[in-house]
Amino acid sequence: MKKNNILLIGTHNKGKFKEISKLINKKIKKISPKILKIKAPKETGKTFRSNSELKANFFFKKSKLISISDDSGLEILALKKKPGIYSARWAKRSGSFKKAMINILKKIKNKKNRKARFICSLSIKLNKKKIITSVGIINGNISFKILGNKGFGYDPIFIPNNSKLTFGQISGEKKMKIDHRSIAFKKLKRKLKLRKFFI
Ligand code: IMP
Repeated sequence: MKKNNILLIGTHNKGKFKEISKLINKKIKKISPKILKIKAPKETGKTFRSNSELKANFFFKKSKLISISDDSGLEILALKKKPGIYSARWAKRSGSFKKAMINILKKIKNKKNRKARFICSLSIKLNKKKIITSVGIINGNISFKILGNKGFGYDPIFIPNNSKLTFGQISGEKKMKIDHRSIAFKKLKRKLKLRKFFI
C-alpha cells in the first residue's frame, strides 16, 4: 500500500477516532497511534489551533505517516469560555465526564445565559513542510439536565441551535452531519481539494 493511502488518526480517544474515521474515504487505511505504540504528546498549546498542530506534527514525526489530529472542546459563555482547551482535563480532574457535567450544571444553575459552543481545530500534516488547519464551530446551549447516552464527552449537556435535543440524544450519524468536527473537516477538504486525498 502506498504511503499516501495510509493515514494516522492522531488521537487516543475512541469516540474521536470513530468520528474522524467515518469522515474519511473507505479506501484509505486508518491507523491509530496506539497500534504503533505512540503515546500522546503533552498539549502545551494555549489555543485549539496550536494544540491540533502540535499533535499532527508530533504524530507525523513519530510515524512518518500523513497524520491528522484535532483539538476540540466546549466553551461555555457563563464560565468565561471554560472548560475550552481544558475540556478533557476537567473531566479527568472531576473523575468522569458525568461528574464534570454535574459540576458544570451546578456552576451555571442560576445563570440566564446558557450559551455554549463546541470548537474543533483539525490539522493535517502532509509532509515535513506542509501542515493545513481548519476550524469548525457549532453554537448551542447547555441543557438543564444530563440527557441521553449517545456520543461521548459532554454530548449529553449540549443542545445545538435549532434543536430540542442534546447531542447525547441524537444518533451519531445525525450529529456528524452538523458538528464542529465535520464543519472543520469540510473546510479542510476544500483546502485539500486538489490533492485527491479524501475523495
Ligand atoms: P482533546 O481535543 O483531546 O483535548 O479533547 C477534547 C475534549 O473535548 C474531549 O475529551 C471531550 O471532553 C470534549 N469534546 C470535544 N468534542 C466533543 C464532542 O463532539 N462531544 C462531546 N465532547 C467533546
